[in-house]
Amino acid sequence: MHRQMTEQEIISSFDQAIKEGQIYVEYQPKYNHSTGRLIGAEALMRWNHPEFGEQVPNDFIPVLEQYGLIHRADLYVFEEICRFHNSCPNYMLPISFNISRHDLFGHDYVNEVEAIRRKYEIPVQYFHAEITESSAIGGFDLISNAVKQFHEKGYLVEMDDFGSGYSSLSILKNLPVDFLKLDLRFLAGEGLGGRGGIIVNAVVLMARWLNTPTLAEGVETIEQADFLKSIGCNYVQGYLYSKPLPKEDFLMLLLAHDIE
Ligand code: C2E
Ligand code: CA
Ligand code: CA
Ligand code: CA
Repeated sequence: MHRQMTEQEIISSFDQAIKEGQIYVEYQPKYNHSTGRLIGAEALMRWNHPEFGEQVPNDFIPVLEQYGLIHRADLYVFEEICRFHNSCPNYMLPISFNISRHDLFGHDYVNEVEAIRRKYEIPVQYFHAEITESSAIGGFDLISNAVKQFHEKGYLVEMDDFGSGYSSLSILKNLPVDFLKLDLRFLAGEGLGGRGGIIVNAVVLMARWLNTPTLAEGVETIEQADFLKSIGCNYVQGYLYSKPLPKEDFLMLLLAHDIE
């Protein structure tokens, strides 16, 4: 019977899900808007349960967070990315991994990730850390330390979901990130013609003045793409270009594509 799992089912089957590879990773390509070239991808966690089928990340991930399981899941995703890199003929493009606030709390997360990367001997430039802006809620120090630590180790950091939190500007001011990801679903609302478009335009300008490249995510229409190009947004990601892909398909894409 295919359905979303209950909290209890999620908690009790998590261990087995990791062991059996029910939890896996898809890769959503990111493109340079002006050259059309592939520049990397975001790793996204998936769970295909043998009985209940494919689970929705926005449903099961908050449960993993709430019950202290996300840390293991995210380290697993990171290790999967390492295995993916090692399955490529040579290392190709950076893959970004999502970090939950709960990964940082009570864990030496950056060093744990580092230990895995070193085990697989993959150069640090093939990973980007994605930290969501809203993870600053209830503790700016936590993410600011994480960003500092990631930088010390040589990782680039992308600020995820910029504009979705309630203190975007102060975060932008205080956190020196390497990319700003704007989720069009937060910033544009009904369309880019009205106030949403003005705000997106202003954010891209502001980021440029801060020397921080912008990546728009959730790009679904040609109108959005044209608008983003016209305002000088650097990178794009969204269904218009590609859905998140199984690793085999992403590898094919990598091999076929003109790498930047
Ligand atoms: P996110 O980090 O903001 O990831 C982007 C989400 O937007 C993904 O949803 C992606 O599939 C979806 N998306 C991409 N392009 C489009 C588009 O054009 N239109 C629309 N409507 N959606 C698009 P997904 O994979 O369901 O993940 C949802 C959220 O779950 C992520 O949001 C992230 O917060 C969390 N998540 C996913 N993977 C991981 C992970 O490995 N670790 C952690 N901690 N969180 C994760
Ligand atoms: Ca993300
Ligand atoms: Ca996002
Ligand atoms: Ca998110």
